[in-house]
Amino acid sequence: LGGSISRALQQMSNATIIDEKVLNDCLNEITRALLQADVQFKLVRDMQTNIKKIVNLDDLAAGHNKRKIIQQAIFNELCKILDPGKPSFTPKKGKTSVVMFVGLQGSGKTTTCTKYAYYHQKKGWKPALVCADTFRAGAFDQLKQNATKAKIPFYGSYTESDPVRIAVEGVERFKKENCDLIIVDTSGRHKQEAALFEEMRQVSEATKPDLVIFVMDSSIGQAAFDQAQAFKQSVAVGAVIVTKMDGHAKGGGALSAVAATKSPVIFIGTGEHMDEFEVFDVKPFVSRLLGMGDWSGFMDKIHEVVPMDQQPELLQKLSEGNFTLRIMYEQFQNILKMGPIGQVFSMLPGFSQELMPKGREKESQAKIKRYMTMMDSMTNEELDSTNPKLMNESRIMRIARGCGRPVRDVMEMLEEYKRLAKIWSKMKGLKIPKKGEMSAL
Ligand code: GDP
Ligand code: MG
Repeated sequence: LGGSISRALQQMSNATIIDEKVLNDCLNEITRALLQADVQFKLVRDMQTNIKKIVNLDDLAAGHNKRKIIQQAIFNELCKILDPGKPSFTPKKGKTSVVMFVGLQGSGKTTTCTKYAYYHQKKGWKPALVCADTFRAGAFDQLKQNATKAKIPFYGSYTESDPVRIAVEGVERFKKENCDLIIVDTSGRHKQEAALFEEMRQVSEATKPDLVIFVMDSSIGQAAFDQAQAFKQSVAVGAVIVTKMDGHAKGGGALSAVAATKSPVIFIGTGEHMDEFEVFDVKPFVSRLLGMGDWSGFMDKIHEVVPMDQQPELLQKLSEGNFTLRIMYEQFQNILKMGPIGQVFSMLPGFSQELMPKGREKESQAKIKRYMTMMDSMTNEELDSTNPKLMNESRIMRIARGCGRPVRDVMEMLEEYKRLAKIWSKMKGLKIPKKGEMSAL
């Protein structure tokens, strides 16, 4: 997929005159690629029409970089499709919100409910989980297991068969217990059927959720639009979460889900584990959809701001893929100095959103400094290790004593390290375009 788009754009860049034929050829290639990525046929067709309107070849003054304009237009169109124009309802910490999850069986609802709860719990919320899936045997056990692991209160029943009743009881209980995020997991069934939608309608009517989240498996392909629309017709879907983005699917169905529900994607699931969950970010998603890789913008930034003589070393480290604690330490130093390399890292997806959210720079800097103080109490062996098992309990205790911080803080820092290491490892073996080569949209 990526290959064909790159090829299409490359051909375009090699053509000395970009005429209508080149534009059409390029658009056709991209159309094929987007369809392969499960973007709905109608959306692709509309985009194609729009691009042709935007990119009026006659109007492009001579000397402008036409290729760049066309690339940018395609990228922007796709970003626009993912933006329904208004943000979803966002629960507020300390105020009670009820959030209901809907989606077909196997889409990842139960897993995602826990991830969503855990994500907020880490930020100081008091979430709770309610299992209103009485259809699938073992549904309650699954939720209970997940919730117990994350130490999140839960509610459900082995004997009650009425999902509405359980949902209402659970929501009421957790309201009394002053939970600020009450999450209702629902049943899915294997296919769309009237009984499922009627059940969703009833659960929603009884629990009056502030937000209904539609959970979608990234690999459902062209079925995404109908599926999302069917749920939207029964309950007031207000947001979308796309799961299994760690697999092969490019997740083009997300565009359909946004179009069908007129709701934004808010998170993506990137694995089976509790913390494999990311805030949705449009640009890297679209880059991936186009097969340009999540790192295209990042690479551009490297060329733009990192001095030439520092580039090779940085790129070498990146392509090796091994993220040691020492590398993390060095990157923290860079970020604090906010020199060129720091700027680059502060825009790396994952670094920027989680570690340094906009508007909270002061807090983030304090956190980074705190992490660095803890790392000052580490041995060289620990700093240079690529073995995740090395950091055992006794080492953690020793570091905590050494820097005078609670064990919990050291563990938090190590969690952060694992998270960043995962991001870093995605860059392993990355082909790094030389300056001036077509690298990104
Ligand atoms: P539900 O029927 O909608 O409640 O779906 P489940 O939460 O039970 O998930 C179905 C399967 O998908 C389980 O095996 C999950 O572990 C798996 N799963 C859910 N989310 C993800 C994800 O983001 N990545 C991967 N790889 N697997 C996931
Ligand atoms: Mg489930």
